[in-house]
Amino acid sequence: MDTPKQNHHETVFKGIGASPGIAIGRAFFLDKYKVKIPQRRLTGQEIDYETTRFKKAVSEAENQINKLVAGLPEELGSHSGIFKSHLMILRDRMLYDQVLKLIPEEKINAEWAISKAVDHVRTLFNQIRDQYIRERVKDLDYVAERVLGIMAGHSAVELGDIKEPVIVVAHDLSPADTVRIKPSKILAFLTDMGSRTSHTAIIARSLGIPAVVSLENITSEVFSGERLVVDGLTGEVILAPDDDILGLYKKKQTCYVRYRDDIISSSHLPAVTRDGLEIKIKANIEIADEIQSARANGADGIGLLRTEYLYLSRKELPSEEDLFAAYKDTLTSMAPCPVTIRTLDIGGDKFASSISFGEELNPALGLRAIRLCLKEPWLFRTQLRAILRASAYGQIKILFPLISGRQEILEAKRHLNEVKNELGAQGIAFDEQIRLGIMIEVPTAVMIADILARDVDFFSIGTNDLIQYSLAIDRVNEHVAYMYEPLHPGILRMINQAVESAHKAGIEVAMCGEMAGEPLYIPILVGMGIDELSMNAISIPRVKRLIRQCDMAPCAGLVKELLDLPGAREVEIALSAFFHERFPEERWLDPGLCQETRTLG
Ligand code: PEP
Ligand code: MG
Repeated sequence: MDTPKQNHHETVFKGIGASPGIAIGRAFFLDKYKVKIPQRRLTGQEIDYETTRFKKAVSEAENQINKLVAGLPEELGSHSGIFKSHLMILRDRMLYDQVLKLIPEEKINAEWAISKAVDHVRTLFNQIRDQYIRERVKDLDYVAERVLGIMAGHSAVELGDIKEPVIVVAHDLSPADTVRIKPSKILAFLTDMGSRTSHTAIIARSLGIPAVVSLENITSEVFSGERLVVDGLTGEVILAPDDDILGLYKKKQTCYVRYRDDIISSSHLPAVTRDGLEIKIKANIEIADEIQSARANGADGIGLLRTEYLYLSRKELPSEEDLFAAYKDTLTSMAPCPVTIRTLDIGGDKFASSISFGEELNPALGLRAIRLCLKEPWLFRTQLRAILRASAYGQIKILFPLISGRQEILEAKRHLNEVKNELGAQGIAFDEQIRLGIMIEVPTAVMIADILARDVDFFSIGTNDLIQYSLAIDRVNEHVAYMYEPLHPGILRMINQAVESAHKAGIEVAMCGEMAGEPLYIPILVGMGIDELSMNAISIPRVKRLIRQCDMAPCAGLVKELLDLPGAREVEIALSAFFHERFPEERWLDPGLCQETRTLG
């Protein structure tokens, strides 16, 4: 290990808390070499040699990945999908074919061609709205690094070699790095890069290891052997903590472990308020790897299966059989719980190379989601057939995204009915009573929610888009991020109106936007009488626990008060006071309320 930096004063870094928990320990700097990219112009005779060298390196990379999958420990078996996608990327048109084209065309060596191909894909991916999908360009980097490493004659870096429990500090960690870890040897992960949806984050959560990502430059500030405190709840990392801070975080660590054990032990029970109202608590998932975490955290089902991944992760469109197999797998892995499948929310800047309708000036307001599906019925109907066929194997609900008016519902239902008739005529089984819902995420859908409720079985409020479209701010534009205010009274009034309209029409209403999993907002959602909340699996135990401590009447009173306040700031103050008073044991956990640790940090 390196010598620690001398005369360090305590420094606090702020990143994204990607996996909760507190860790105190010494840093282990994973100094992954970045492979240097040699750049050389080839003579005509060298082209064949270079092409063969590249093909051989790809075959060797395949061998390495296959070996790694075969040796995966049982608890990580569900993550093998990541490596299957790496195998696919190795042979993908945009990488493999492109490199084989660039070598002779531009007469450049293989490493240079690889880096050019990767740069091109990165530029395309960076324009994508969906953060999860954008993150997948990382997989391409990992795959390219592996091939480049083989060409340079490097052996793979082994995280499995770590001998004593440490806090791993790295610029980035590939899934291959993360799955080789012996969990008993890792206290926490810290990375410069990453987000809540990066693989490191997903795997850290399933291993129960605290992680803080997106720390930007922690690798240039921290040396191996230095003492660190990691708070995966707030995203804070403290370098060279003094004894007072150490003492404080040891206390927080003990409290957190006790609290987590406690909430996990009851998270398989239903979330029922003290006065008897049950709220279904479900998980949002995008990939099959997340099902295990949904189950472990006590999800009452999948409330939002985002179906874009299968369309965006490959060069050809998935076939009806591919989709059917994936939906049936999800359903059987979650059985007997229900699964809500949202139809394709692709288009605009979430593009697939196989479906392209040209560039749009304003993609978020463009040909997206249900609009694209209604314009391209073949695309929509293939997915509907797959969903309906899977519905014979368990309880599926269908959810249409981005509905802005009644006509879209009628058209979508017409396609659904025609597909049902087709299947019926072919003697293929499906759930004839399949329930149908719409996302409430466009302001006009809120305004006429009473009318729309007549044509569907349930609503699911998508606050991520509802906030974007109501406040007229791009949800991924950091310049207007300060305006993204879930507690804006206008947003609260819209949510309330959607809930009231649903209930007046006798249908259920869920929420599946990020607001649903935010502990501070729970009293509001309970007070409004929401029927279901769907969230990131890791948030489920805490949300269930909070709901069990709520009573309807005071929460409904709180809503009434908040709906009359002039702005988000006033709402936050009143809500925090309510939360503080009702849930005192939550105080030390919440970054917004935990004064003790914040001021000392
Ligand atoms: C939403 O808009 O709140 C939502 C859940 O959908 P997505 O984030 O996939 O757009
Ligand atoms: Mg949405």
